[in-house]
Amino acid sequence: MTERVTIIGGGLAGSEAAYQAVKRGCKATILEMKPVRFSPAHTMEGLAELVCSNSLKSESLENASGVLKEEMRVCGSLIIKAAEASRVPAGNALAVDRKAFSDYVTGALADAGVEIERREVTDIPEARPLVIATGPLTSEPLAGAIGGLISSSNLYFYDAVAPIVYKDSIDMDRAFMASRYGKGGDDYINCPLDEDEYRRFVEALLAAEMVKPREFEEMKCFEGCMPVEAMARRGPDTLMFGPMKPVGLVDPRTGKRPYAAVQLRRENIEGTLYNIVGFQTRMTFPEQRRVLGLIPGLERAEFARFGKLHRNSYIDSPRLLTPAQSLRTDGALFFAGQITGVEGYCESAASGLLAGINACRRSRGQSPVCPPPTTVMGALVRHISSERDSAFTPMNANFGLLPPLKGRDRRERLARRAIEDMRAWVDGGFKFLETSA
Ligand SMILES: Cc1cc2nc3c(=O)[nH]c(=O)nc-3n(C[C@H](O)[C@H](O)[C@H](O)COP(=O)(O)OP(=O)(O)OC[C@H]3O[C@@H](n4cnc5c(N)ncnc54)[C@H](O)[C@@H]3O)c2cc1C
Repeated sequence: MTERVTIIGGGLAGSEAAYQAVKRGCKATILEMKPVRFSPAHTMEGLAELVCSNSLKSESLENASGVLKEEMRVCGSLIIKAAEASRVPAGNALAVDRKAFSDYVTGALADAGVEIERREVTDIPEARPLVIATGPLTSEPLAGAIGGLISSSNLYFYDAVAPIVYKDSIDMDRAFMASRYGKGGDDYINCPLDEDEYRRFVEALLAAEMVKPREFEEMKCFEGCMPVEAMARRGPDTLMFGPMKPVGLVDPRTGKRPYAAVQLRRENIEGTLYNIVGFQTRMTFPEQRRVLGLIPGLERAEFARFGKLHRNSYIDSPRLLTPAQSLRTDGALFFAGQITGVEGYCESAASGLLAGINACRRSRGQSPVCPPPTTVMGALVRHISSERDSAFTPMNANFGLLPPLKGRDRRERLARRAIEDMRAWVDGGFKFLETSA
């Protein structure tokens, strides 16, 4: 008997998962709620709908998104094949005709024999292996059932994300390492501001261009995830009592407490990425670069991830998932795509790719696998499934997740190593690097 993998959600992750499973000889069924029910962002009947931009971002190997695409190509990704077949000219970016893209995926899955049942799933089916790939706008009844399965405190509905910058782009002649009141070692990078710098920053923040929330994203924020600009609107000094408070800090250059300070906290084990604490924002990406560049030390900061605030259902993967994308408590129940806390079209598809491979392996009693940590795909799934003390926020592909290399041409060498290691993983039958899951 051929083993069957059941997948809830025929988006980018679910489609890729189904394709990978059938490519390996498993049967696959996708349970997709469109057109019976549409999320507030979906409008097309076809699978793998791109709900917003028609770009899958850059193909250049100078950035991690381009490297991830190359890795997916090496793995035989359906989403990359569909994008190549439906591409429209867009310079370095892999942009597509979204209708042709969705038609290609829907047709390829039908040709491969994937069964597609069009219905809303409202409870967790008994079928195993099961892949839940219902995305950032998972319908409410199923979100409730997932909350019941993993505990609702492990399921988030909004994403209030502070920007993350590369450490080596921070000017450490202006910034300094310290913890407030000297507690906890030199854990934070601190950017001190004098009064003029603070006032100029607040003025620029209040005048900055913001991304407008979609109707279904209008929300009341908890104090803990309030955007920095909303705090600034409460009064000119509010930020000095919030994320820019200087208490407990002494600038080693002046020997005094700064007028205000911005703190950055380490984001990954390697210490290559730092997030700007409390700076979740709706500023547009160019405005984040400009306005946050007024903070001393961040003038030339390079952003690994920009700040955001939007509707996004995702689970607390660091506490729940293995790098193979299955639950730690149920090795036959997988999550894939944006619901795992990866962020972006390709990242979601890559997560589906790995879940599809592992769901098929599971159905045959084989152990789970994961690409090496030196690949962008391997680093990303390890990042989201690594336990941490701080709150988990979604993550996109970026070079800061990879084990660092020293010396010149680092990005080029990181990219080359990632692609070579991915080829070796694929040539070795996708299995030489098994996870401990
Ligand atoms: C409004 C919005 C705009 C975005 N814009 C971009 C962008 O421009 N670029 C980018 O890189 N990323 C963007 N993202 C983030 C992310 O990359 C996409 O959401 C991506 O589509 C996620 O892929 P996925 O497969 O996880 O989910 P999806 O592609 O959303 O697929 C999930 C599927 O599950 C189905 N489903 C949901 N609930 C059920 C249920 N109960 N039963 C059966 N089926 C169900 C849905 O109908 C859908 O087809 C955006 C996200 C949102 C919400």
